[in-house]
Amino acid sequence: MSATVYVGLGSNEGDREAHLVSALEAMSRIDAVAVLHCSSLFESAPVGPPQPHYLNAVVALECTLPPQRLLCILKQIERDLGRQHGGPRWGPRPIDLDILLWEGEVVADPNLQVPHLELHKRRFALEPLSELAPDAEHPVLGMTVIELLTQLAPQDVRRCEATWWPETLLPVTE
Ligand code: AMP
Repeated sequence: MSATVYVGLGSNEGDREAHLVSALEAMSRIDAVAVLHCSSLFESAPVGPPQPHYLNAVVALECTLPPQRLLCILKQIERDLGRQHGGPRWGPRPIDLDILLWEGEVVADPNLQVPHLELHKRRFALEPLSELAPDAEHPVLGMTVIELLTQLAPQDVRRCEATWWPETLLPVTE
């Protein structure tokens, strides 16, 4: 069965935009996945120890894989792009891929929780997600993406211009 899935991308090491574009290209090559839309790029202050600012975006995928299979592929993409697993939890990384929302699904496995457990606290995920799916509902909290954003304290997250990132995949607003 096919579902719409929202994946958050982040990078704060090396050429951040190039890493996001490489991850997007890798996701578009996954069998059983189609990239539907991309958000704008956002720059955000890091959570945790001092480190460079992140570049963030969210993509909407049409996916016929089960959640665990997609997670496994996303982790392989992270490794292919130079991510060392086992480093400090909040340390800098060339790429971070998180499954934020899976249409109609709640996953509560030891290694995978969907919606992502931090989604409702993170403006750097909710701002780009709100461009693609403002009315999508958080199935556990029963609030839409816009409602989650409204109740969140300000955080240092700004929309920024893209060089290669395909903002043209944004859905056309009527
Ligand atoms: P991170 O440090 O953000 O890359 O996350 C590390 C671990 O979080 C991964 O190895 C996953 O097993 C786990 N995880 C749990 N829920 C999720 C999710 N929704 N998306 C991605 N990773 C997740």
